[in-house]
Formats: sequence, structure tokens, C-alpha cells
Amino acid sequence: MLKIHTVLCRAGTMDNYAYILIDEATGLSAVIDPSEPAPVIAECTKLGITPDYILNTHHHFDHTDGNLALKELYKAKVVANVNDSARIPGFDIGVEPGKTFALGQSIAQIIDVSAHTQGHILYYFAKDKALFTGDTLFNLCVGGLFEGSIDEMYTALQKIKALPDDVNFYPGHEYTIHAAAAAFHAAPQDTNLRNYLRRADEKLKQGQPVCPVTLGEEKNCNPYLKAETLDQLKKLI
Ligand code: ZN
Ligand code: FE
Repeated sequence: MLKIHTVLCRAGTMDNYAYILIDEATGLSAVIDPSEPAPVIAECTKLGITPDYILNTHHHFDHTDGNLALKELYKAKVVANVNDSARIPGFDIGVEPGKTFALGQSIAQIIDVSAHTQGHILYYFAKDKALFTGDTLFNLCVGGLFEGSIDEMYTALQKIKALPDDVNFYPGHEYTIHAAAAAFHAAPQDTNLRNYLRRADEKLKQGQPVCPVTLGEEKNCNPYLKAETLDQLKKLI
């Protein structure tokens, strides 16, 4: 079993999420996308763990700026796409799209979704029904196209849509409220979306992240996932 703890970083500016993963069978642990060290260290101390790995979805500073400090403090190994190693601070272990990474007994499939950046990857723990989407899929929106084309984003989204509905996804930022207006504008009468927004609002009011949301729910409500053709997606981006 994989235990997942969500850590808000860069609160109030970029609202990043780092995630602490613990493989319960072995006690091995990892941090996904530490954008700054302090909140991650505080949570690790609270949990009484020293992370063995740092996993990056892509090279942007708001996902990797905590790498070096955590690596030094915990002697953690930095894991990222082997094809993007030159841009990852403290890079140690390369993972290859189409292959897997083992956090103890928890196995992540590595999925290439080059679009937001070239070399952006997802970590998909199929058995634990958890997908870490970095800056590719957010609640009700997708990441900007810094280095890729709309065609590449379309391909990336088809890969996510092919995953089972009961998988929970964990995005790299809390962008739900920013994305809500456009999603609502696109489907003002949609009951699924109204329920989604109501639940999101309740969670945020309690100071909780909106994630995780299931891919099933997201496929019903996220306009970019709802786009069925490349042309439909092009109208949104
Ligand atoms: Zn990014
Ligand atoms: Fe980001």
C-alpha cells in the first residue's frame, strides 16, 4: 500500500503541491516535486520519515527548487526522466517512459506527456490507483504549452483518458478556482460540474486541497478532457 501526504508549497503565490509517498510494506518514502524545502521538511519531521527519493515530473523550478536541499539533508536520490537529466537539479536516477520505477513494493508506470515541457512525465501507481500529473493535468484545466504543441497536449490527454475512472489524480498546483470560471462558462447547466465546484468550494473553505479527484469525475467536468477531437481542444487553447 502507498500512503500519500499532500504538502502545500509556495502558498499564496504559486500554490504548488508536493506529495510525500510512503510504501508501507518497506517503509521507503519519496517526495514528488518539492518546489521549496521548508514545508516538505516540516511534514517529513511530523511523519518521522527521511525520504529515500525525490521524484520530479518535469524540470521547472517550481517543481525542483527543493531538490538539492532535500538531497543534502536526507541523502535522497533524485529521480527524473532520463531524457531530461541535464535540466534536473541533483539528478541521480533516470526513469524511462514506458518503463517503471519501484518505490519498494509500490510500482509506478512512467508515462511521457511531453507538451507543457518536453520530457514531462507522469507517475502512475496502478495498484494504488494514484496518478501524479505535475503541470499536465490540473483540476478543470491543463498546463500551459511552454515547449510543446496542442497536438502533443492532445496526445498526452488521450493517455490520461485511457486510464481507469477510479484512479485518483494529484496535480502540481491548486488551480481549481482559477479554472472554475472558464469551465462553468463552457457548461453552465452541467450538474456534474456544479457538484464538482460545490465539493471543491467546501474543501477549500476547510483549508484542504481539492485533490484528489477521480479521473472519472475529471473526465466528466474538465473541458480539456471532455474535448473529443483535436479541433475541439484547439478551440480551448
Ligand atoms: Zn511547469
Ligand atoms: Fe508548475
